[in-house]
Amino acid sequence: MPAVDRGDGAFATSGEPDAGNQHMSTVGVVGAGVMGTGVAEAVARVSRSVVLVDVSADALERARAAIHRNCRMGRLLGTDAADPQEVLDRIETTGSLEALADCDFVVENIIEDFALKAPVYAELDRICPSGTIFIANTSAIPITRLASLTTRPDRVIGVHFMNPVPQKPAVELIPGFHTSPETLAATTALLAVMGKQAIQVRDASGFVSNRVLMLMINEAAFLLHEGTATAATVDEVFRSCFGHPMGPLETADLIGLDTILLSLEVLLEHYADPKFRPSPVLRELVNAGCTGRKAGRGFHHYSDVSSSSTPRPLELT
Ligand code: NAD
Repeated sequence: MPAVDRGDGAFATSGEPDAGNQHMSTVGVVGAGVMGTGVAEAVARVSRSVVLVDVSADALERARAAIHRNCRMGRLLGTDAADPQEVLDRIETTGSLEALADCDFVVENIIEDFALKAPVYAELDRICPSGTIFIANTSAIPITRLASLTTRPDRVIGVHFMNPVPQKPAVELIPGFHTSPETLAATTALLAVMGKQAIQVRDASGFVSNRVLMLMINEAAFLLHEGTATAATVDEVFRSCFGHPMGPLETADLIGLDTILLSLEVLLEHYADPKFRPSPVLRELVNAGCTGRKAGRGFHHYSDVSSSSTPRPLELT
């Protein structure tokens, strides 16, 4: 199908959801955790309607509070002009996937566990019209594997959003084996409307970013396990010596240690390479409920659970 140049920086493909059209693009977001909250906010900020679904009413409540807080903070700091209430008014929250029946795109952001994601894709395939595009926001699960759960693998694509979503300028864009050029074009247009640069990579577990980042974080956790350095020292080396804005363990806390552990397990299963075996420290922290910033404690302690809180080191050596 030919791409239609809209003349406004976005483009649509005839017969596909028109991401640039204000009135057509209702975006469904499944999962209201760290990433789903960020995706819902980023979409609502560009004046699109959002239906945000989660099985947990608490998660939906926390998502609304976080979005309001982020928009308010942006206004107070003068970094953006979005009205917190207007952004929230564009987001409908619900526990029912059936509410996604009118969406042009559905962005799936549930826990990084294939067994949990699988029934959701089958349900979405039943509920949504055949034209709806499913966007998988996964850390490491191959897009082709998720697409195979639907009767529309040509309309399934991966977008690996970065955290925190509203602030990050770029994403990894991952077509699966059957993803059509039209789906790729419509998704790229939606991302352009959201102000995101799409960097296209091939479909391989972990893509580019997490194939490298998960190993780096895991190796940093092994350093704690072996007593080579404290969490604070590991992070300081990366900040002070390499000029990284955050060290690997602070980054892990921001992502969520449960998500890191699950991603390593996906990589280990997929590549059958022991280099992806999770560090015992990582496993222990997750077992203890210390999943990072969202829990107030991970490799570091946090005075509050908002993403702006300052880390205090947890000495694990
Ligand atoms: P999270 O644990 O913070 O949130 C997951 C949410 O999914 C929870 O609120 C949970 O209640 C909900 N959920 C579980 N089963 C559900 C179902 N059947 N229907 C609806 N909601 C359901 O996880 P997250 O960090 O937001 O990660 C979500 C996805 O995004 C994962 O696949 C992860 O790998 C990926 N990802 C995470 C990051 C990150 O930095 N955290 C970055 C990029 C991609």
